[in-house]
Amino acid sequence: DIAIIWFRQDLRLSDNPALTAAARHAHVLPLYILDDHNGGEHTIGAASKWWLHYSLKSLNTSLNESLSLYQGEPMAILTDILSRYQVTAVYWNRCYEPWQITRDKHIKARLSALGITVNSFNASLQHEPWTILKNDNTPYQIFTPYYRRANLLDTDTQALPAPGITGALCQDSQSISLEALKLRPKIRWDGNFYPCWTPGEAGAQSSLDQFLAHGLENYQAGRDFPGLKAVSRLSPHLHFGEISPRQINQALLSLPDDNNREHFKRELSWREFSYYLLFHWPELPEKNLKTHFTHFAWSDNPESLKRWQQGLTGYPLVDAGMRELWQTGFMHNRVRMICASFLVKNLLIDWRLGARWFWQCLVDADLASNSASWQWVAGCGTDASPYFRIFNPITQGEKFDPQGTYIKHFLPELKNLPLKYLFRPWQAPADILKKANITLGQDYPLPMVDIKESRENALAAYHQIKHLS
Ligand code: FAD
Repeated sequence: DIAIIWFRQDLRLSDNPALTAAARHAHVLPLYILDDHNGGEHTIGAASKWWLHYSLKSLNTSLNESLSLYQGEPMAILTDILSRYQVTAVYWNRCYEPWQITRDKHIKARLSALGITVNSFNASLQHEPWTILKNDNTPYQIFTPYYRRANLLDTDTQALPAPGITGALCQDSQSISLEALKLRPKIRWDGNFYPCWTPGEAGAQSSLDQFLAHGLENYQAGRDFPGLKAVSRLSPHLHFGEISPRQINQALLSLPDDNNREHFKRELSWREFSYYLLFHWPELPEKNLKTHFTHFAWSDNPESLKRWQQGLTGYPLVDAGMRELWQTGFMHNRVRMICASFLVKNLLIDWRLGARWFWQCLVDADLASNSASWQWVAGCGTDASPYFRIFNPITQGEKFDPQGTYIKHFLPELKNLPLKYLFRPWQAPADILKKANITLGQDYPLPMVDIKESRENALAAYHQIKHLS
């Protein structure tokens, strides 16, 4: 009697309900399939592949080197395994991206028709999207009432221990090697990723421990300051399921119930709400949820898009963010909002092009959170920032990076510029620039647009569509 545990976005042993259930069988075949067939444009991006490589490596170690690996169409791969082994049951934890839901429904039906039991579980959300609805049975569109309702529901905070399965594990002789999945880049742009991250279950736990010991106490006030270590950096671990919200909530229970803890829980619920929106509005990654944005006059300007991607806009906070993204696979949340706003509003470039770039560059690239957040910044989501809220990268820098720590870290060419000009180098007098060893247009770009003028243009463009539907 062999049971398959199909790992997907649940790359951990503890608090893994599918694994715990599979472990009741005499033999367990753990597997991972790199599905590059069903996702289309939403197939895993480059930086996330890097993460996945090391996360699978870590999982394989935890499984006594018994993880079987495959690449391709999951149904075909499962059918082949079933023809070679006496499999009676397949276990997995549910995924929530629209293409994954369609795929899994199809696979479940096919396997059931073959007489194989399929058992699926929730391992990555506090509340699955269909469990929270308004009184009229329609989904919430606004976060706060959704959050209020979610808080009224019972949340299970008892995380499962890792099951003892070492004796039951078996590996398929047809498994390919981790190297054969070719997840790491050929051109080695990943050098800076290594000191920043430890993918895998142990890395996730240690990020959580670090944050609870040193970050949470200043979370509410500190989370907006990219130069401080006040956020958890748990997002890639959560995306790949190396840790569950339930484990985080359980750990939070032993800490004082104060504003920091409450605020952190609220942010975790923004992740849940993003999954919720994606489930109820599967078109979230492609279509403006506020439909009048269909008529928005986006600018088709590949050259400007490239300058934004490369962190060469001439606005230091935007450029620091875009370089953090490129160098480390991550960007601080406040800076994500500022960079996204700059692209969509100051450059008038379609948010979907920004989302696509983030998708390739982020180690935490997540279809739900990325799409929902871009729609939020662009003003076209259900619960979105109003369009006229246009982040000013100069004043945001003065407010949230007051010592310039973050900017100077990612833009070392500006490190000798006095703070007074750090957020607006083009206003620095010639002698100051000379002293700081900066030739504008050479060492650091001049601003690619005027912030006031581009703001006016954005508001005018919005004015054209706001009465349409
Ligand atoms: P913390 O502040 O420590 O928060 C804890 C956890 O709560 C995070 O790990 C994350 O899972 C969740 N969370 C926090 N803020 C948000 C939010 N606004 N929306 C959804 N979940 C949130 N997050 C992703 O995980 N993947 C993405 O692809 C992604 N793309 C984004 C794109 C844009 C334009 C913007 C503005 C935000 C995006 N976010 C995305 C949300 C947010 O920026 C990150 O989740 C957060 O910066 C991760 O850092 P952290 O783990 O230190 O967060």
